[in-house]
Amino acid sequence: TPIDPFVYNVSPSRVIFGSGSIKKLAAELQRQGLSSPLLLSTPQQVSQVEELSKQLNGKIAGTFSEATMHTPSHITEKALSYTDEVKADSVVSIGGGSTIGLGKAISIRTGMPHICIPTTYAGSEMTPILGETENGLKRTRSDPKILPGVVIYDVDLTMTLPTIMSATSGVNAIAHSVESLYSPTTNPIINLLAIESIRSLAVSLPMVVRDPAHTVARTSAQYGAWLAGLCLGSVGMGLHHKLCHTLGGSFNMPHAETHTIVLPHAIAFNAPCIPDILKTLAKVLPESNGDAIAGLNILLESLRVERSLKAFGFKEEDIEKAAEIACANEYPNPRPIEKGPVQELIRRIWAGEPAK
Ligand code: NAD
Repeated sequence: TPIDPFVYNVSPSRVIFGSGSIKKLAAELQRQGLSSPLLLSTPQQVSQVEELSKQLNGKIAGTFSEATMHTPSHITEKALSYTDEVKADSVVSIGGGSTIGLGKAISIRTGMPHICIPTTYAGSEMTPILGETENGLKRTRSDPKILPGVVIYDVDLTMTLPTIMSATSGVNAIAHSVESLYSPTTNPIINLLAIESIRSLAVSLPMVVRDPAHTVARTSAQYGAWLAGLCLGSVGMGLHHKLCHTLGGSFNMPHAETHTIVLPHAIAFNAPCIPDILKTLAKVLPESNGDAIAGLNILLESLRVERSLKAFGFKEEDIEKAAEIACANEYPNPRPIEKGPVQELIRRIWAGEPAK
């Protein structure tokens, strides 16, 4: 096969991966000459922050545990004044995309180094992208300075991620890799990472759901999620991410669950324009029998995830409005975006009908 011209950017972050790697945080801070980190979390993960503070022998500036979804600006303001008050010299975010978002928001405003300790599979730690909400409006920006400098992937901290969240967050990661395969800015390296990521997640997620204490499966899922995050941070995304952004940002649908419901439909929508990519996908989806969408459906069945948006309170009368928002701006996608077919797609995901 011919190799098309491409541009490849290396993500300049340092990754420390493996069980117990959280113990390397102290050395990591020292390596960067940092002595008073501010530890960030959500209210649900306070105990993990306390554990981390103990490990650092209390040598921290303080903790701020009010991270919440969509990085609202009033929380960022509050965290910034606390950062000032305790004279922090760095931020350490421990959690999912919501906590990492707050870490990015503080780091880009103060110039402080940001160390991430991800505990979901969403992938934000690998991207230079930040979404923030002010007065109910979510704005996204991209800046190389937003990319966290160091990421510590310690599987031990993912063991408490609830089973259903593990499943949907894992499919969220698969979605990054799938869309990077057909991104106009993709390249051979990203393709390799995407395929490897889908392969590890598709094999490990059903094992995690069957046995949430399975460390080997959890490690493989986290490895797949890291690679998926790299894909998300490196190349532009298409219809799937646009739809999820619309449904999450304008209709308050939950992030990972929405990605899970939309993915087979977004692939089916693009299917006529990506025959070779479907063949590649089918090869890495177990039990697909050469049919990528069937393979994905089998995977989702085995994860026992919710398949309709209706279940999360999305209203039938909002389908048209969502289609309008998702089609308002032009963006690259294998199949041209037209309101009629997109509206039918949203209707199918609302109703929980099979993808076609
Ligand atoms: P999240 O960070 O909102 O976490 C969901 C809940 O799970 C929280 O209560 C959290 O405390 C809890 N949780 C996380 N890990 C846990 C663990 N190991 N054990 C127990 N509880 C745990 O969820 P998410 O899906 O990771 O992130 C979603 C947010 O991140 C969205 O706002 C999305 O827009 C953003 N995001 C941004 C990017 C980016 O590149 N900027 C990428 C992906 C996601």
